[in-house]
Amino acid sequence: MKAIKVPKPFEIVIEDVEEPEIMSETDVKIKVTSAGICGSDIGIWNGTNSLATYPRLIGHEFGGIVTATGNSVSKVKIGDKVAVDPVMSCGHCYACRIGRHNVCRDLEVMGVHRDGGMCEYVCVHEKNVHKFNKDFPENMLSVVEPFTIGVEVNRRGAIKKGDKVLIMGSGPIGIAIMQVAKKNGAEVMMTDLVESRLEKARQMGADRTVLVSEQDLDEMISDFTEGEGIPVIADTVCTPASFEQAVKLACPAGRVIVLGLKDQPSSITMADITKKELTIVGSRLNCDCFDEVIEGLEKGQLHPEKFVTHIFKYDEIQKAFDTIREHPQDVMKAVITF
Ligand code: MN
Ligand code: ZN
Repeated sequence: MKAIKVPKPFEIVIEDVEEPEIMSETDVKIKVTSAGICGSDIGIWNGTNSLATYPRLIGHEFGGIVTATGNSVSKVKIGDKVAVDPVMSCGHCYACRIGRHNVCRDLEVMGVHRDGGMCEYVCVHEKNVHKFNKDFPENMLSVVEPFTIGVEVNRRGAIKKGDKVLIMGSGPIGIAIMQVAKKNGAEVMMTDLVESRLEKARQMGADRTVLVSEQDLDEMISDFTEGEGIPVIADTVCTPASFEQAVKLACPAGRVIVLGLKDQPSSITMADITKKELTIVGSRLNCDCFDEVIEGLEKGQLHPEKFVTHIFKYDEIQKAFDTIREHPQDVMKAVITF
């Protein structure tokens, strides 16, 4: 079968590899129909993703059609359309025991720590497989994973009806968080440095947007919250400065959700946190969020149509990567089809 492989940084190839087969009674074999390209895939390609090892078959956002099942599989059947959760955990460590397996001590993510889903077939444990109950376009099955990031952030930040939420950054992660927050009944303000991205954010549901290069964020927040300050902030910009800014902007008793994986320090004092009794939480990957996303998509509460801006066939992978690198502002989510 064909698979997309990064043998080492700055190289991407389509390779013939052996097709995986059902090895255990709990395995599900899936013909992959679509796989999303993520910023972290670009990071694996250009050597800046510190978690990845090489050579690697990439792809952690993918879905397809079930073609075979192990003897004990009851969750799905042949022909079902499914999305695959790429998160693999040990099941025994502290995080796993308390139901937080997405931060397992021995965490492995398909397409990062082990081979992923940008290939024609995968075999995975049935617990990682989540099926659609209604018909859904084959080339959109991969949008579930990025939306699960949005669900995880909403859960970690306890975002609920009536909350006013600031999302820093209007890339795909910001948009996913926003749509889930809207589904949960929150009001959402989004920021960016690029007006065209804010335009898209408004089209996809953002209540308000702030062009931070030209508009005064403090003033806009004050207007949005009638002077109260912002109670929930999700930082998808993920720089040392954006984290500092999020902590400063949060109103007393506010929540800040952090998504960055950079290891550079920010200047935040104890007083910054204590005085306002802030809740600062990390949010990583997803913890059993697939079914909520699929339900949201099927009920029309989440809107993937404008989210996916580019679709390429698998043999155009080089072109897809080039497009993302050359026109990062025009590409929200690019999808590879098989
Ligand atoms: Mn991703
Ligand atoms: Zn574990």
